Amino acid sequence: MQILLVGAGLSGAVIGRFLAEAGHQCRIIDRRPHIGGNCHTRRDDETGVMMHVYGPHIFHTDDRQVWDYVNRFAEFLPYRNRVKTTVGNKVFSLPINLLTINQFFGKALRPDEARDFIASRADHSITDPVSFEEQALRFVGADLYEAFFKGYTEKQWGCSPRDLPASILKRLPVRFNYDDNYFFHRYQGMPRQGYTQMIQAILDHPGITVELNTDFSPDMSRQADHVFWSGPLDGFFDYRLGRLGYRTLDFERFTYDGDYQGCAVMNYGDRAVPYTRITEHKHFSPWEDHRHSVCYREYSRAAGPDDIPYYPIRLVREKALLEEYLTKARQTRGVTFVGRLGTYRYLDMDVTIRESMDTAQMFLTHLKNGKAI
Ligand code: FAD
Ligand code: UDP
Repeated sequence: MQILLVGAGLSGAVIGRFLAEAGHQCRIIDRRPHIGGNCHTRRDDETGVMMHVYGPHIFHTDDRQVWDYVNRFAEFLPYRNRVKTTVGNKVFSLPINLLTINQFFGKALRPDEARDFIASRADHSITDPVSFEEQALRFVGADLYEAFFKGYTEKQWGCSPRDLPASILKRLPVRFNYDDNYFFHRYQGMPRQGYTQMIQAILDHPGITVELNTDFSPDMSRQADHVFWSGPLDGFFDYRLGRLGYRTLDFERFTYDGDYQGCAVMNYGDRAVPYTRITEHKHFSPWEDHRHSVCYREYSRAAGPDDIPYYPIRLVREKALLEEYLTKARQTRGVTFVGRLGTYRYLDMDVTIRESMDTAQMFLTHLKNGKAI
């Protein structure tokens, strides 16, 4: 079969590889001048540092098959994400852990004492937290919420944490020990030569052709037996029902002679600081030796029609609109909507890979059984 895959990010690459290995011809297009989608990495011209061009990407998963898959295409080196945050001119450790609690409150609590102490500050009148703010007040109390979450979240999402779902905060743990690893997952690492090299290796198959700087046009789908669409869901339907909301990011680059902040990611919790965080990219490759440094200040804002969509917003308006688009998608024969943009969900890389493998497998099973797709 002739398969068209729109988007040369992780979704397009993994599905393309799976189907090419099953004997299908896969044409992958991307409107950008490079492969890798938002996982794209490249060496900085001036400093030689490996840059996470669309923001910091750390690989973490509990899925053994996914871990084996990425290790088949790239050498992964151990990497732990240890994030710091600057609040009121002081630096604290994230996610909130025993060190954060002890430093913030000027105490020397042991785990059980800290648990009781935080419980005593939490708002127990909230029994079923629905919003981000309620979730924070219920589990960490007003002091930690206002220092670490309120300002940062207002900057990141452009709205009050009262209007955001509790699920956003549930991504972050609170620990009553000194473990400052941002993630829980069993397998964590960083590809030695960056994500783009890994995705290049996934795409390296005789059944796959890649065309960059190439926007989708409807006659392309007429030449294909099936389309996998990893572009924006609403974009496929020419935004006919309206646009799904996204936050976009602006990165302000600067260089520094030496080590600028001593870690890869420094968040800024204060509302008065206009950016959310600073990323110092050389710390993503601690096995490399770079004297000069290159950093990104990261600003978040509502995405306009020409901006890169980063974070799906999924508030009430978007959820209703999403349902309408999903109905249209289900009625569209010959097209499968995949990935972060095609399904309008925040997906980590491991989930993207898992879903891509499962989608491709299901497609092959349907083909074998002669089912319409
Ligand atoms: P994308 O990477 O967005 O690829 C879609 C591609 O489709 C794009 O290249 C686009 O140019 C192309 N396209 C769209 N429309 C068209 C069209 N009409 N014609 C042609 N091409 C088109 N995950 C982690 O596991 N760990 C992290 O630390 C992490 N950090 C992240 C940080 C940020 C700031 C963001 C935004 C995401 C992060 N992620 C992280 C998630 C990760 O980026 C995604 O899982 C992954 O990029 C999803 O891949 P995808 O192929 O579905 O989408
Ligand atoms: N968050 C915060 N302060 C921080 C880090 C995160 O308030 O220092 C909030 C913010 O709303 C963010 C959410 O917690 O969207 C989830 O954090 P995560 O690090 O998973 O953010 P993402 O990967 O979405 O940027």
